[in-house]
Amino acid sequence: MNKINVVIFGPPGSGKGTQSEKIVECFQLKYLSTGDFLRSEIACKSSLGLRAQQYMDKGQLVPDSLVIDLIESFIDKNKESPGFLFDGFPRTCDQAVALSDMLKRLKQKISLVVALNVSEKELVGRIQKRGLISNRKDDQDVTIIKNRIKEYELKTRTVLDFYKNNFTRLLEINGEDSIDDIFLMIKKEITLLSAL
Ligand code: AMP
Repeated sequence: MNKINVVIFGPPGSGKGTQSEKIVECFQLKYLSTGDFLRSEIACKSSLGLRAQQYMDKGQLVPDSLVIDLIESFIDKNKESPGFLFDGFPRTCDQAVALSDMLKRLKQKISLVVALNVSEKELVGRIQKRGLISNRKDDQDVTIIKNRIKEYELKTRTVLDFYKNNFTRLLEINGEDSIDDIFLMIKKEITLLSAL
């Protein structure tokens, strides 16, 4: 079977994590959320975690070099898996180029980018709600939340153009549709790709 490598893309609060859980369960892709990974590095006070924390606490992106290294070792360790699901990566064009180079070395590429679109007002509301139960500092402060959305607009949205210019298959979805409807669309697309 073909290897399927999926990027789930969208601003913070757009539902990437929720859909990722469903995708992984259905297709057994190897999942990496750079945000989760960085948070676990912070929890164990590693030097990577300590460096990342100063950016995350302000709602800024962590420097490319930190996240690119961590993706590289993750891909290396899991290259036998049926495919990867990247959540929250790439977030800059340099990260997208680095990812494409790493996959090229394995004779692979990104098979699909799923982009979730959600209005800013809805994003802020969703993140604040999540902040009530998540214990995430960056989900609890409106200034940090808005900064994260600003970082997305300034540095991340343009990653979509990178994939469009590279003729990568792109599925754009209204992230305000129901969780089940969104997953059905994603499932249909990945099933199609698996059959190619
Ligand atoms: P997330 O859980 O994906 O919302 O990420 C939380 C925070 O982790 C972001 O606001 C960034 O500070 C940092 N982060 C996660 N992924 C990346 C990435 N690919 N590049 C840079 N920073 C990242």
